[in-house]
Amino acid sequence: MQVAIDGPAGSGKSTVCKIIASKYGFTYIDTGAMYRSIAYVAENFGYDDIEKKAAEVEFILEDNGKKISIRYNGETIDLTTKIRTPEISSKVAFIASNKEIRKILVAKQQSYAKGCDVIMEGRDITTVVLPEADIKVYLTASPEERAKRRYKEWENKSDAPKFEDVLKDIIKRDEMDTNRAESPLMQARDAIFIDTTGLTLEQVSDKIGELIQNKKNK
Ligand code: C5P
Repeated sequence: MQVAIDGPAGSGKSTVCKIIASKYGFTYIDTGAMYRSIAYVAENFGYDDIEKKAAEVEFILEDNGKKISIRYNGETIDLTTKIRTPEISSKVAFIASNKEIRKILVAKQQSYAKGCDVIMEGRDITTVVLPEADIKVYLTASPEERAKRRYKEWENKSDAPKFEDVLKDIIKRDEMDTNRAESPLMQARDAIFIDTTGLTLEQVSDKIGELIQNKKNK
């Protein structure tokens, strides 16, 4: 079974996907982490010929979405935490607007989804990567609620950004992700819309769990 989840930053996709993946034994693929990894390569190895560099990157996805490393330039680099910085967050939408990079990553994502039960999240999963998925969901929440969730992830960390900066980044990324020419973030016509504002992420995963059960019982 294929479950495709799209939505803006902080809409709860990752948490919900992890809950579902462990409950139903699905493979979890976080496609945002792949775009973030290419942003890391650009930042650390240069933006020139970034499409060529993206094609050379080999992804190593481990621990069912909890760990991501790349093999690049003869090195294996664990990016699990390195791609979660405000710097990478502010650069990734630019990388993700690159048509050639999208083509390379979409092909890899489609190959990961072949022949297994998968839950995949991103911005174009319901529309481009897995348009024939069994279940398609569009998750969202107000920008303030989403910024609060992201901000909480930094709580008690000495290098935590300011709340206003997290909110600004979310609004800017929303704008870039929804207005770009290549595979913009949008709700697929047949995707189920869930506004997660005011819901716990357990309640959201229960809703998606029901959709999976209903499909399985058919
Ligand atoms: O999901 P996450 O916030 O980690 O995604 C980081 C960025 O990667 C998004 O803001 C978006 O620009 C890009 N992205 C994308 N298509 C996807 C997944 C992520 O364009 N399928």
